[in-house]
Amino acid sequence: MKKDLRSMSLEEIKELMIELNEPAFRAKQLFEWVHKKGIESIEDISNFSKELKEKIAQNAKITCLNLKTKQVSEDGTIKYLFALEDNNYIECVLMRYRGTKSKKRNTLCVSSQVGCAMGCGFCATGLGGFKRNLTAGEILSQIYTVNNYLKIENDDLMVGNIVYMGMGEPLLNFENVLKSIRLLNELLGQNISIRRITISTCGIVPKIVDLADLNLDIVLAVSLHAPTDQLRSQIMPVNQQYPLKVLKEACIYYVKKTRRRLTFEYALVNNFNDTKEHAYVLADYLKDIFSHINLIPVNPTVTEKFQRPQRVKIQDFLEVLTSSGIEASIREERGTDIAAACGQLRGKVVE
Ligand code: SAH
Ligand code: SF4
Repeated sequence: MKKDLRSMSLEEIKELMIELNEPAFRAKQLFEWVHKKGIESIEDISNFSKELKEKIAQNAKITCLNLKTKQVSEDGTIKYLFALEDNNYIECVLMRYRGTKSKKRNTLCVSSQVGCAMGCGFCATGLGGFKRNLTAGEILSQIYTVNNYLKIENDDLMVGNIVYMGMGEPLLNFENVLKSIRLLNELLGQNISIRRITISTCGIVPKIVDLADLNLDIVLAVSLHAPTDQLRSQIMPVNQQYPLKVLKEACIYYVKKTRRRLTFEYALVNNFNDTKEHAYVLADYLKDIFSHINLIPVNPTVTEKFQRPQRVKIQDFLEVLTSSGIEASIREERGTDIAAACGQLRGKVVE
């Protein structure tokens, strides 16, 4: 089978060029075409001879995403639905932050799996079950493809921040996710600083420990969503395997190893996890962890079971946390009108 160039590291491309009896500098050039310029076809390489391109194409290919639909939100957020080569569907979301110059940025929320096996009760991706892991090339393709659209639109900003918060559980596709991050960081590639990359996990404890041991500058976000095991297990099955106590130990270990502040996500669900009492228990849980917690009014997905609390309740919840010395904020969600916000991605073709 032909190798996908978008999944290949510089080392692997060098090996390929050695096999093809080409000099080493060609490997660097090919890497740049693939990972920096984001070409969609080997034919687009303008400084290689036709013969060389044919030789490469006999051994390798570039896997592209096929755009199925695109929806634009009132706030400028864009949700893309892509078909993969095997006709599975994934979604990714471009958030365009404007305003003051220093805050201006394009953030892409990427998928790491087709579907998700974790089955969180409030999440549209989880409802569809798990299909398969994405390759590193398929993860990167989301970024390269969106950059190509931005170029066509003459946007002066490319994607500069990546959040692994689309479909799937990134820590259960550990190798490919890490490979994609290392490739994003390559000087000859996108050259994106690892500090601009966030991985969000539902709390796969051994993988949090593994990630900590790698000691990279990745921002880790942990989806908490409830302050007690009794409540958390009701909406997040993963909590039965990795309950709050062991999760906390892993979080403290991550901070100790990386010296980076953790982010927690807490989806507020009306009459479920949103009382002041819950906030006090939560504050007690968080007080030993160097972190920031984002409160997100839950997105009603396909079931009516999960509704947002009223604004005053959310404010009261925040007030308890901040007065207990916890760093917290309410996160304004983007793209809710086009179902592009957290937990709303389904990866299904819109009928
Ligand atoms: N699997 C990873 C990353 C993808 S989900 C994780 O669970 O962290 C991205 C974020 O969306 C997570 O914080 C997840 O808990 C949150 N989320 C899922 N469904 C949601 C919903 N209906 N409302 C608000 N946030 C939701
Ligand atoms: Fe999977 Fe994250 Fe959705 Fe849970 S919230 S089902 S872990 S994608």
